[in-house]
Amino acid sequence: MRKFVYLFTSVLLLLLCTIAYFIIQGNYFEKKTAIPVDEALETKIENVLNHMTLDEKIGQMCQITLDALMQKKEGSDELDTPYRLNPALVDTVLVKYKIGSILNTAANRAQSLEFWNKTIRTLEQKALATTGIPLLYGVDAIHGVTYTSGGTLFPQQIAMAATFNEGLVKEAASITAYETRASHIPWNFSPILDLGRDPRWSRMWETYGEDVFLASSMGEACVKGYQGDDPNHIGQYKVAACLKHYMGYSVPRTGLDRTPAYIPQRLLREKYFAPFKRALEGGALSVMVNSSMVNEISVHSSKALLCQWLKTDLQWDGMVVTDWGDIENLHSRDRVAVDYYAAIQNSINAGVDMSMVPFDWHFCSKLKELVIARKVEIARINDAVRRILRLKYRLGLFDQKNNLKTYPDFGSKEHAQVALTAAEEAITLLKNEKEILPISKTSKVLITGPNANSIRTLNGGWSYSWQGEKADLLGSEFHTIVEAFESSMGKNRVTYIPSVEYKMDGKYDEEKPARYERLLSAAKSVDYIILCLGENSYCETPGNLFDMNISKQQNQLAEVLKKSGKPIILVLNEGRPRIVSSMEPYMNAVIQCYLPGNYGGDALANIVLGKTNPSGKLPYTYPRFPSVFYTYDYKPCEWATLMEKDSLVHNNPIQWPFGYGLSYTKFTYSNLAIRIIDQQGIEKKQTSFSSDNKIVVYLTVKNTGTRFGKESILLYTSDDYASISPDVKRLKAFKKIPLNPGEQKRVRLEFPANSLAFIQAKDQWVLEEGSFTLQVGELSAKIVCSSSRLWTTPNQN
Ligand code: BGC
Repeated sequence: MRKFVYLFTSVLLLLLCTIAYFIIQGNYFEKKTAIPVDEALETKIENVLNHMTLDEKIGQMCQITLDALMQKKEGSDELDTPYRLNPALVDTVLVKYKIGSILNTAANRAQSLEFWNKTIRTLEQKALATTGIPLLYGVDAIHGVTYTSGGTLFPQQIAMAATFNEGLVKEAASITAYETRASHIPWNFSPILDLGRDPRWSRMWETYGEDVFLASSMGEACVKGYQGDDPNHIGQYKVAACLKHYMGYSVPRTGLDRTPAYIPQRLLREKYFAPFKRALEGGALSVMVNSSMVNEISVHSSKALLCQWLKTDLQWDGMVVTDWGDIENLHSRDRVAVDYYAAIQNSINAGVDMSMVPFDWHFCSKLKELVIARKVEIARINDAVRRILRLKYRLGLFDQKNNLKTYPDFGSKEHAQVALTAAEEAITLLKNEKEILPISKTSKVLITGPNANSIRTLNGGWSYSWQGEKADLLGSEFHTIVEAFESSMGKNRVTYIPSVEYKMDGKYDEEKPARYERLLSAAKSVDYIILCLGENSYCETPGNLFDMNISKQQNQLAEVLKKSGKPIILVLNEGRPRIVSSMEPYMNAVIQCYLPGNYGGDALANIVLGKTNPSGKLPYTYPRFPSVFYTYDYKPCEWATLMEKDSLVHNNPIQWPFGYGLSYTKFTYSNLAIRIIDQQGIEKKQTSFSSDNKIVVYLTVKNTGTRFGKESILLYTSDDYASISPDVKRLKAFKKIPLNPGEQKRVRLEFPANSLAFIQAKDQWVLEEGSFTLQVGELSAKIVCSSSRLWTTPNQN
């Protein structure tokens, strides 16, 4: 009996200790899966999986590009027209190799709705007849339906970030989902959640800018717009999101695309992982891997990043796809695998579920050999296939055949209106000397510069084709900047002389020899000059940049115009912030358009002519010099070093700060009040808080000018002192509100206290006691954290 009591007490003690351990770790009761498990769906997946052969399983893990299945001209690599599938190739890919996923457009150009529906249905039927498993088609509809003619193209992500309007981001994503689904495509390789923290990078414009909170908020809104609210049941007007490029891709040391990034482990988790984490916890269903390396490890071979951080730590049951050809790159480019076999083995074992091959289906036979040789375990294959089937089930692809919907709103006027509003809310007024803007509709303008008359430059890359070079042809019904002004002011008030032109059949940064002859005489008869500068369209590696300065000829053009003595309105239409510091002093107004999409010309004209009041704010720090780059959340010493030697260093390295943007009206902020919400949800008038609280900030915002306007209110926090030198400030909340002249509103901004934490060593989040400064516009206040807290597992916070 005594023995029994002893045993019983020991077991009880052990049990209690275990429970206590998990509670202390904060690891048991709070643990949740990123997406709720749907048991019925899981049963179906197991049923299918149990009946699959190894060939069928491996086929599911392979993705091929559409061009590989298309009919070519005899003896040539060029596709034959009319574009059509080659039945023999379709049989090889879908019947022999049982491949489960296809991507991309044909012939690198937008295709008609009819083409898409016919082509994908043919492929789908073949796949279903062969394996009974539906095909998963994926495409890059990154700012609207890139590859479907007649669809709606929105501003690119960098511009959507400048709207500081999550509602608009969600709405645009929702329309994109609808139009992508109308094209019979259920999977979108978007959004990019890389942080745009290096202005040299050729994909800066594909990001939501430099800030973690802004990118996370916009990313979550975009995913909701694509997928809807239930990640287990994606409706037929929705698509699955694919977050990319996981992760650290955007800050290559060289500034060049697909080159290595070196990111301290702390920052990797604190900043670069954060937008992915938030979107994954919000239900994002798939992830694409960073093509390059982080801290010398090719991400496609990183078990730590793919398995541990993503799948295990977050309990995320979604699917990981490679980027273009990146398994092969482990061998041929990175040399971390002696041959293609080793590359496949490394990446599949590291956690890759699907390989975007994209041309060579021998991936399948090679992976099969690896499985037979037990270099890749069947358990890993089953795990990958389960994830792929889960995505197909979640998308409703298994039921789709009996349930085809129609899409009457494809390319509708309502969709266009959202794209126009988004462009209007994105465009950012950076300078307005003596309130020269808006100008009267009855004035006369000279419009010049290489970006003045092009739909291609307004859209940027991933528009009708990969590099965007076909946009002037395929988007000709939309207004260029010149056409938009002509349509608003009348042709007789607009003189257009290009002076500098891009070589449209050359590299993105090539220009034709400039011609300035007629400029000065034309300038004499106008009231204003609208100078449209920037960049031609590009993306990925072809968009690599070797000089941050805006081109020599564009600088010269500005110099020539200066001689006219006429007021100059500089319009920037660029994917990344090119240096304009030498011309800026003599520009009377500066407007940043980013890549505003098909309605960017109209939106700009509306703003310049005063129909619309600008409300965009910069989602990045605009550099003043070609070799010094800041982000707004720099460390105190990055600025102090300059200031100490003030007498020697006289340059402000920033042209325009993050969050900067002017309006035609004035907004004043007053009556800041702080409240703390305790664990019971009660709002209290106090300034001290602990990690479980929420911080609420109230302020009054008034439109004191004479025009209606929208204002984005940005709330920053600064940790006054911390054990690791704190960022000077961090964005913690924002809200955009409309205000009529004279109107005022009480604005409420809220954030959780634990978001004030930072990563200490060993991937642990810590919130340190002490004071924090809150800042909104000119207003500021102090709050005090009463006790420190350490989270011992990285995802608890
Ligand atoms: C890009 C990805 C894109 C993929 C498929 C790659 O080259 O890096 O962003 O999703 O191609 O088109």
